[in-house]
Amino acid sequence: MPQTAQNPEELDVVIVGAGYSGIHQLYHYRKQGYSVRILEAESELGGAWWWTRYPGARVDSESPFYQLSIEEVWKDWVWTERFPCRDEVCEYYQHVDRTLGIKKNIRFNSRVVSAKFNDSLDRWVITTQDGFVIHPRFFILAIGAASKPYTPPFADFTSFKGTCVHTASWPEELVVKGKRVAVIGTGASGVQVIQSIGPEVAHLTVFQRTPNYALAMQQQKLDKESQQKSKRLFPDMFRRCRQTPNGYSFDRYPKSLQATTPEERVLFFEDLWVAGGWRFVTNNYMDIFSDRKANDEAYAFWRNKVCERVHNPEMQEKLAPTKPPYPFGSKRPSLEIGYYDVFNQPNVDLIDLNKCEISKFTPSGIQTADGVEHVFDIIVLATGFHTFTGPYTEVQVQAADGTNILEKWANGVYSNLGMTVHGFPNFFYMYGPQSPGACNGPTCSEVQSDWIVGCVSHAMNHGSTRVEATRQAEIEYRHLILELNERSLAKSTSEPTNFKGDLAQYARLCAEVADKGYHGFVYSSEVGRRARL
Ligand code: NAP
Repeated sequence: MPQTAQNPEELDVVIVGAGYSGIHQLYHYRKQGYSVRILEAESELGGAWWWTRYPGARVDSESPFYQLSIEEVWKDWVWTERFPCRDEVCEYYQHVDRTLGIKKNIRFNSRVVSAKFNDSLDRWVITTQDGFVIHPRFFILAIGAASKPYTPPFADFTSFKGTCVHTASWPEELVVKGKRVAVIGTGASGVQVIQSIGPEVAHLTVFQRTPNYALAMQQQKLDKESQQKSKRLFPDMFRRCRQTPNGYSFDRYPKSLQATTPEERVLFFEDLWVAGGWRFVTNNYMDIFSDRKANDEAYAFWRNKVCERVHNPEMQEKLAPTKPPYPFGSKRPSLEIGYYDVFNQPNVDLIDLNKCEISKFTPSGIQTADGVEHVFDIIVLATGFHTFTGPYTEVQVQAADGTNILEKWANGVYSNLGMTVHGFPNFFYMYGPQSPGACNGPTCSEVQSDWIVGCVSHAMNHGSTRVEATRQAEIEYRHLILELNERSLAKSTSEPTNFKGDLAQYARLCAEVADKGYHGFVYSSEVGRRARL
């Protein structure tokens, strides 16, 4: 029977999103015997990895860490590369389904448009675009931080007669070979697109606002046997990931740069560089992110590495300015394979938007402030997403009195632990505002997921039909968010979007709240409240 407003389905838990966070949640609720369903807007598993199809899309986290820590899943899976490509990640998701049989608990092609708490039922009323209505006790939003693509408000944007694509919605049939292409944006997606299409296009113009401090990926093929052998360490490895600043099993070097000699530093930096990936950030000296002088020295080493690769001094200065435009590591660096080599090609230009901005789009391309019209067949917008509270403009999350969560957050985000909000009982969000940001995604997801499962089970085991963060708890958590931001070298001048402490610190905070019987939360039951009236 179709589930409509007159005939809603009642479940213990509804999760929105079938990426790592949503699947981890589903797995644990099913294990506890709760009735649970995932609503997924797309037709397949994988979250952002499913719809990310731009050329060169690849994971920036090393493969042993970029997977679920569920033993049934990892014991029969091996990766082919240290940093897997998008297709391999999608294949991994199919393996997750073959192992756990999760698709039967997922309703695909189900875009949730609204969710409102019903005060008398202590249940959420969730409605999808196609009119499916569901009444779960608990509602988990696991849609990630990058679900709503951002297109800057360029003048005359629609006048361009060629093909304009956003990296978030890359058409599979698009051919770039032999075309004149523009890429706007040099963030995570921009770097990967540029290094992938650069060698095959007729001409490439990159529009850069902020240089990416891209690090050498040092990609490697992986063999099956050594991966199988290392699996005996996986349980320890996954536990260890939660005890480190960035969610990998490795930690900062326990020495400050200031306490070393220049020779020691140069050799140590070189070792980290050869190790590749994020090691130059995650394993570096402990004062790199607290001391500006130490930070500048890491920047200088990185800059030298870029200059060794890029031949033209003007290009060097655009990609790696002598004076660091922002502290090293304070913005997410990308991992590159061939990015800097592309800028040695004679058919590649780089326009520094700080010196010459985009005036408008034209029917043939883009006009810059110097009056020059740049002609293109294809314009690629690698301009990112509406992050922070952006995804909440897609799903209308409403309290019982109709207050939208964005109205509540209009003058600043208040949450407890970056997962729960006062006035929105039985609601949990993952990887959203005030959650940790600069860390390995799956580790952060699982820290949050375990905590949410614990909080929900505590309610279920105690006959509570409602759990809600107190106002006081969210005031205190906001205070901590602002304080951590003040202490950070990567201090935001506007509202900090993430928890800027270490992931280990965040995990300890979550564990403390649970150990104190979910301190900062009120558990109640609808029956108990009625009896008191
Ligand atoms: P992003 O990292 O936010 O980069 C957006 C880029 O667009 C930046 O270079 C930004 O410049 C530029 N930009 C924004 N507005 C502009 C404007 N008006 N004019 C010119 N340039 C403008 O977005 P993304 O690359 O799509 O990545 C988003 C997130 O997805 C990442 O943080 C990461 O978490 C995830 N991701 C991961 C992977 C991976 O693991 N391999 C790959 C892709 C994406 P400014 O820096 O000056 O703002």
